[in-house]
Amino acid sequence: MASRSSSDTYLQQLKQLAKVVKDSCQFDASLAEHTSWQIGGPADLLVEPETVDQVATVVSFARRHKIPLLVIGQGTNLLFDDAGLRGIVLKLGQNLCRVHISDNTITAESGAWVPGLARKAMQAGLTGLEHTIGIPGTLGGLVMMNGGSQRKGIGENVRRVWIVDCKGEQVELTREECSFSYRQSALQDTGAVVVKVELGCGREEPQRIRQLMLEDLRERRRKFPRKQPNCGSVFLSTSEMHASVGPPGKVIEDAGLKGTRIGNAEVSQQHANFIVNLNGATSKDVLSLIAYIRQVVNERIGFDLCCEVRYVSPSGEIMPAHLVNF
Ligand SMILES: Cc1cc2nc3c(=O)[nH]c(=O)nc-3n(C[C@H](O)[C@H](O)[C@H](O)COP(=O)(O)OP(=O)(O)OC[C@H]3O[C@@H](n4cnc5c(N)ncnc54)[C@H](O)[C@@H]3O)c2cc1C
Repeated sequence: MASRSSSDTYLQQLKQLAKVVKDSCQFDASLAEHTSWQIGGPADLLVEPETVDQVATVVSFARRHKIPLLVIGQGTNLLFDDAGLRGIVLKLGQNLCRVHISDNTITAESGAWVPGLARKAMQAGLTGLEHTIGIPGTLGGLVMMNGGSQRKGIGENVRRVWIVDCKGEQVELTREECSFSYRQSALQDTGAVVVKVELGCGREEPQRIRQLMLEDLRERRRKFPRKQPNCGSVFLSTSEMHASVGPPGKVIEDAGLKGTRIGNAEVSQQHANFIVNLNGATSKDVLSLIAYIRQVVNERIGFDLCCEVRYVSPSGEIMPAHLVNF
């Protein structure tokens, strides 16, 4: 346990940072309010920088004082712990979200909300982002996760990414340097903050793009739970998995697990790759349910499901949720 004097020093340091970034700071911020699962205890300090320079200041400060730092977007792929986070959460969204379109190129700040960005591309007659229309996160989170749907990933459109690296330096990366692969990028677990992205698109009639987007949204409405808090697909659906045993939703459903409940977390009755928060679910409920699903699926078909959803420990470590020892 931290001594009284070291925790006093820690608090002073957080207050010092709060003075630098002024209005956009909140002490003891409820993390449940910053994730679509609505689960998680308080973070010592939540910072919402308004400029890239402020992002760099926060990153350097945390590094200099060895304070855990977690970057988040809309928290639509994150499971926070019930104990919260003893460190700083840096949230991009409100201010760093400008989008610029020129010819076939979109340059956007990473706080841009993905469905809004996809809609802007459609209005400009730019094709390539249709599959992202229903993904409720920020562009930074999407790039970090190489997110997408219909077996696509945003990495296919990325040309350049601007980051603040773990030392607080602003760096420009090419697509190749990001090494995108299925729901992965070389940016993960490096401490980098994505601040701006350049995307290359093709040309198409806006009406045709709109039609594709509406089809995607219709499918999502039909298949996914909409009213209960969730974090999208819990388990990864790699092409190897598809080829050998099928998609995770079907595998979990075939194992008879739809509707299985631990505490207030439940395998969605609508889509078995979703875990819904019935009201007041804890991170322990979700982790226990994930462990149970993996155990049953392993016993039945000998396949080890891996999580797409990432868990954040109280000390700021972040990892796929199936790797948590609890
Ligand atoms: C209803 C629903 C449907 C979904 N459908 C899909 C889908 O079809 N396809 C899909 O891929 N995902 C889907 N998701 C999951 C999620 O929306 C995506 O992974 C999304 O890209 C995460 O963005 P975010 O801003 O919420 O990131 P967060 O959840 O806040 O963070 C995700 C990861 O990215 C990191 N991160 C976030 N922003 C930055 C940044 N600026 N710089 C550095 N690191 C950052 C975080 O540290 C974390 O590791 C869905 C989720 C929900 C709730």
